[in-house]
Amino acid sequence: MSGETIESMLPRLLEFRREREWEQFHLPKELATALSIEAGELLELFLWRQHESHEDVKADQERMERIREEVADVLIYLVFLSNDLGIDLPAAIASKLAKNEIKYPASEYRGRFSLP
Ligand SMILES: [Mg+2]
Repeated sequence: MSGETIESMLPRLLEFRREREWEQFHLPKELATALSIEAGELLELFLWRQHESHEDVKADQERMERIREEVADVLIYLVFLSNDLGIDLPAAIASKLAKNEIKYPASEYRGRFSLP
């Protein structure tokens, strides 16, 4: 870990956008679309590859670098969208996790499903 957090990176991200006057293009729908496209670019790196373990993927250093970049692209757009809509991302995650903990109690869901 670099010691950076999303919060600590936010001013730099916003400055990057401001310096290029790209805010004008960052309407909510455009950011959501860009986020989805970047998620597609991430997904493409796994296309047609069957039964890869984490270790298999991690052993491919060239692909790992591309995965790392696409993960960053997805998160950058998510951070822009959240910032612009006034969403406190850590609070939103905590709130959604609390809902999921109620919806999917570990005592009920542990061992409930298995891989074929
Ligand atoms: Mg990309």
